[in-house]
Amino acid sequence: MRLPVYLDHNATTPCDPGVLEAMLPYFAENFGNAASRHHTLGWMAEDAVAEAREEVAQLIGADPAEIIFTSGATEADNLAIKGIFEEHFPGKGHIITAATEHNAVLDTCRHLQQKGARVTVLPVGGDGLVDPAGLEAAIAPDTVLIALMYANNETGVLQPMREISALAQKRGVLLFSDAVQAVGKIPLNVRDTGIDLMAFTAHKMYGPKGVGALYIRRRGQPVSLRAQMDGGGHERKLRSGTLNVPGIVGFGKAAALAAERMEQDALHAAVLRDRLEDALLQLSGTAVNGNREQRLPHVTNISFGGVEGEELLTLLNNNDIALSSGSACSSATTTPSHVLKAMGLDDVLAYASLRFSLGRSNTEEQISYTLRRIDEAVTALRNP
Ligand SMILES: *Cc1c(COP(=O)(O)O)cnc(C)c1O
Repeated sequence: MRLPVYLDHNATTPCDPGVLEAMLPYFAENFGNAASRHHTLGWMAEDAVAEAREEVAQLIGADPAEIIFTSGATEADNLAIKGIFEEHFPGKGHIITAATEHNAVLDTCRHLQQKGARVTVLPVGGDGLVDPAGLEAAIAPDTVLIALMYANNETGVLQPMREISALAQKRGVLLFSDAVQAVGKIPLNVRDTGIDLMAFTAHKMYGPKGVGALYIRRRGQPVSLRAQMDGGGHERKLRSGTLNVPGIVGFGKAAALAAERMEQDALHAAVLRDRLEDALLQLSGTAVNGNREQRLPHVTNISFGGVEGEELLTLLNNNDIALSSGSACSSATTTPSHVLKAMGLDDVLAYASLRFSLGRSNTEEQISYTLRRIDEAVTALRNP
């Protein structure tokens, strides 16, 4: 059996070997700058970027011209929210978001509050879902943007995006979605769903770190926003800076592979996730956090009542099981998950919760091993 058992795919995924292979020529051999207009090396890089843009666009049902490459989803979140706010402020300055968003969204909204934005942070139910009626009630004449994630990184819960996009359209408000955890994992089409802007990133879908994208709708009345980086005017003047050609090529390959493998990947992960979850629910004091129907196929978040979460995590990590209590971005700090707290868990239970996010490499054997180790650890911690 392969160790470690990696159950932290929502933090990052390994680069697929095919992705790595596609990237390699673009480091030392075809090293050109995609913006160099006067020689073959530049053209080769430009062509490679164009092909990747096509592959990335295709995965989400967009046109290539609607894809802006960035350094990742954090940058794409910032560009979308700040870019839309600055385009419309001071005329309109109200942003609606939700309590379970990633910090890249919440902190960006907080930052804008200091610049005069009015921000409404919607509550979620115990199942992690936003109530569309509550969202509609929050829309005001000065509302410019709804920022709502597609799938939660800690629980896998899927928001009712179609219903929300219909509301946004009806009320003339733009809809931005951080779809990092959904893209490449479940079928997602920006046109069918009616999303105006969407952020996603390569390293959560078996691509390289340090490259992501912002989808910006151009069909109909094109969405316009302010650039956050000044410089050479790359990416339709929305994101200056020399393109990360190897990274973008890897992102394109990862997108093509994700499209090809989506069904099989989802089924594989779901079978293992369900087996893991069903067995963990047999332990006393355990419960699933978040809606179990409207959820990503490869994620479960479980609270272990009466167990000290940090101790459980340490015991499992010591046994070569790589998993986390929540977002990697906030697990450096020792505050309990803001996502679970927004769903009504108290600090103790939020601390006692673990996120299991499965992926391509996981096996039945690894799940059996994990279940044995958890059983031992929980027994040991409950009977000191
Ligand atoms: C990982 C993650 C991000 C950050 O993506 P980076 O590319 O690492 O900046 C943003 N939002 C969500 C929901 C994530 O899971």
